[in-house]
Amino acid sequence: MIDIPFLVSVLNRVGGVLKEVLFPTQCLVCRSFFPGGAAQCINLKNPLQRLKNLGPDTMLPGIWAHNNFVSAEHANNYHGNIQKTFGTLMSPFLCATCSASFLPVESPMCSKCGIVFKSRQGEDRVCGHCIEAPKSYGMARSAGVYDQSLMSVIHCLKYKGKIQLTPPLGTLLFNAFIRYWDPKHIDMVIPVPLHERKLRIRGFNPSFLLVRNWPRIFEMLHGHLPVIPVEKDILAREKWTAPQTGLGRKERLQNIKNAFAVKDTSKIKGKKILLVDDVYTTGATANECAKVLLKGESKQVDVLTLARAM
Ligand SMILES: [Zn+2]
Ligand SMILES: [Zn+2]
Repeated sequence: MIDIPFLVSVLNRVGGVLKEVLFPTQCLVCRSFFPGGAAQCINLKNPLQRLKNLGPDTMLPGIWAHNNFVSAEHANNYHGNIQKTFGTLMSPFLCATCSASFLPVESPMCSKCGIVFKSRQGEDRVCGHCIEAPKSYGMARSAGVYDQSLMSVIHCLKYKGKIQLTPPLGTLLFNAFIRYWDPKHIDMVIPVPLHERKLRIRGFNPSFLLVRNWPRIFEMLHGHLPVIPVEKDILAREKWTAPQTGLGRKERLQNIKNAFAVKDTSKIKGKKILLVDDVYTTGATANECAKVLLKGESKQVDVLTLARAM
């Protein structure tokens, strides 16, 4: 007699192997082909659920710690965890070598702007730049260093339009959010806007795409975290500016000055805002947005970016 379930499982396995041989995944960064990418492909619509299924080792350590799902000791082992999380999230796109080149942002860093100090000794403190030119925002933090694989995937997203990268990158960003903020102390998330013309040319705003999935994550964690709205139409970029890339610190400040405006100040009055962007370079953009939001009487503006240029 034929054992049907056994036959099905064998056929499935053979199918999986054939699929890997016939359609290996090409790494977005180094272009090499690697096996397993498709097989362990994350459900892109729900990368968080996939991580949850993998357990606390690869699951967003911040969320896990927040809910006492793991010991504090485990949560403190952030470096290993966040690297593993990055590897899991990016497994459909990056080979293991490229995934391993991800560098999380770690202490000691500037308690204000989040820049990582070269010396790996000592505690977090305010850096010289922030003392010289005080920032308008409260604090800025990032998920990873703007280098190697993280830099490459951000370029793929922004300049090659690989928007399929936004659910895993958005989940990584959410992980950083939970690590540094108590969600109870944030009232709304505002992505840094693009100028309307730029939005038409590019077709999407990467900063918004990074937080577009957040409401779904809040929904999934229903009861554990407050639901924070993502507001993409409150802040507008009204001045057409030259790209900040390639400009020095002073030119960046000059270039971005008066570029933003708040459309409806009644919506931000007294609110604690988390401003989100893809990359923090000199902080000129984030600081300019914070100035405008605070002028509109928001209570506090903090900044979260996916990557931090060092
Ligand atoms: Zn690679
Ligand atoms: Zn600083």
